[in-house]
Amino acid sequence: MTRIDGHTYLIGLMAYPIRHSMSPTMHNTAFEALNLNFVYLAFDVPAEKLKDGVAAIRTLDMRGSNVSMPNKQAIIPYLDKLDISAELNQAVNTVVNDNGVLTGYTTDGVGFVTDLKKKGHEVAGKKMVLIGAGGAGTPIATQSALDGLSEIRIFNRHDGRFDHAQETVDIINEKTNCQASLTDLADQAALKEALAWADIFCDATGVGMKPLEDQSLVEDPTWFKKDLVVYDTVYAPRETKLMAIAKNAGVDNVYNGLGMMIEQGAAAFKLWTGQDMPIDLVQAAIEEKDQQ
Ligand code: NAD
Repeated sequence: MTRIDGHTYLIGLMAYPIRHSMSPTMHNTAFEALNLNFVYLAFDVPAEKLKDGVAAIRTLDMRGSNVSMPNKQAIIPYLDKLDISAELNQAVNTVVNDNGVLTGYTTDGVGFVTDLKKKGHEVAGKKMVLIGAGGAGTPIATQSALDGLSEIRIFNRHDGRFDHAQETVDIINEKTNCQASLTDLADQAALKEALAWADIFCDATGVGMKPLEDQSLVEDPTWFKKDLVVYDTVYAPRETKLMAIAKNAGVDNVYNGLGMMIEQGAAAFKLWTGQDMPIDLVQAAIEEKDQQ
């Protein structure tokens, strides 16, 4: 860390709990590789400390911060501006400080769309089925809609997120050219029919991750057609049960959420530094950290 000196810019991560995060590894690896005079540190910031945390961005003239739970919505009143990505989701994961003006962004959706694009799949003109409209699913839906997705059918179970999912559908229909609808996940016939109709299927529920690693929201392999693009936002484990079922059904394009995680970081990195994150190096650093 010899590059740290009197001119070093600080970027934070404010969430609670947060010490397990991969983001410090990602960003500091990239700063070092590109010889950028920034440092990225994680701070435990529970909701009651958020106001002071944002004030610190201004006081210390930090270049910005990432934010995660429980602060993604709560931070909005403390910021000066919202980018459209944050406005459509009413959530922020990245703050940029431009000479004292703090702007909130959500880069998760860009992360998803960019990862898919790099894997050879454009969302423009496509039809998508999305299960789960929470912190990950909502920006996936809105960014895909902004980037030209033609139609999205969101499925959500009838839990506390259902009304939020309906709000997301309304926003997409109102503010973009994408046609959106919401169906109760309990309607399994509708899900089966939608999977036969879709080009892209994304599971953004966390089913398949601990403690639900032996579960999949689609159990029947015949529901997967071979040319469907299947994307699970989970990245630990690297292969979920849903992904294994899809692969066994002969689906060629089956992905976990690691690429989305890295690309949402790369989008924030670009906002802070103006530079492209060296993705391969960052991915190698994450894999190495994972083994430790
Ligand atoms: P969240 O709690 O905000 O939302 C979860 C969504 O899934 C809700 O819509 C909820 O109704 C639905 N859901 C939850 N459990 C379910 C179940 N058993 N059956 C059916 N539906 C269920 O969570 P989140 O922040 O959106 O995270 C969801 C998943 O996405 C997690 O696995 C998380 O690790 C992953 N994630 C990945 C990235 C990435 O960059 N790859 C980013 C954020 C989140």
